[in-house]
Amino acid sequence: NSVPTIELNDGHRIPQLGFGVFKVDPAETERIVTDALNAGYRHIDTAAIYGNEEGVGAALKKSGIPRDELFITTKLWNTEHATDRALAAIDESLEKLGLDYVDLYLVHWPSPTQDRYVEAWHALEQIKADGKARSIGVSNFLREHLDRILAESDTVPAIDQIELHPALQSRELTSFARSKGIAIEAWGPLGQGKYPLFDEPAVADAASAHGKTPAQVVIRWHLQHGNIVFPKSNHAERIAANFDVFDFELSGDEMAGIDELERDQRVGGHPNDVE
Ligand code: NAD
Repeated sequence: NSVPTIELNDGHRIPQLGFGVFKVDPAETERIVTDALNAGYRHIDTAAIYGNEEGVGAALKKSGIPRDELFITTKLWNTEHATDRALAAIDESLEKLGLDYVDLYLVHWPSPTQDRYVEAWHALEQIKADGKARSIGVSNFLREHLDRILAESDTVPAIDQIELHPALQSRELTSFARSKGIAIEAWGPLGQGKYPLFDEPAVADAASAHGKTPAQVVIRWHLQHGNIVFPKSNHAERIAANFDVFDFELSGDEMAGIDELERDQRVGGHPNDVE
């Protein structure tokens, strides 16, 4: 029942299942992340813009879990792409988290209207060289954004963290990224609860067949596709249930049935529109 790890293109390993804290109230973050750590999660995904890095840091500190057993991700916000701002932003994040390095630092969005994501990427290369991030990657990067990073820098991102759930599978993007050695993290893995994913027969039937919940089936679908996921919940029982996904396996037919839910349907912003 332990979480598998995936080897990144820089040799570091990431636990395939973690806990995400988007929209987790800063005032409740310490308690909620403590619930996640108690349930067994060791990989936490936050971002400067979430405003809750301090709560994450407080929970980590209180837990007493050795640093090398944790995998902590944070992200550079869109207004901070300029080199000097990016170099300051990582220091602020580390200060709030109470850490001297993060395991993974991501450019949160490409913000192509600003056209500074290549500059931000070079800053992340510097941050990695300085030892402030073990691995570096991007988020919400489409093929065209990855192409520029690959052409204009010597570092292949370790990760592209993209919106990905059964109604938005972005198969061309994920196979391109993987062909370049870029691992895929799926944000909004449960569709953020914004469409009736759990009522889909492909999901509900697999859940009954295995005696698991629809959420567990969807998490399992991601894991079996090789996606890295960090579902979010504020509730201790769901936090624990979302982690209890290593005692069953979906069949090929069950996987294919969920694959058929592709609708090219986003629940979040389009990467070219988010500024
Ligand atoms: P999610 O798909 O994880 O959905 C979370 C929602 O699903 C919860 O609020 C709850 O309503 C529901 N849910 C969770 N567990 C459940 C259960 N067991 N049963 C029933 N319902 C359940 O959406 P998310 O939080 O947006 O995505 C996960 C993480 O991805 C975030 O917390 C964040 O870390 C990251 N993220 C990154 C970006 C980005 O731009 N890089 C954007 C959004 C999210």
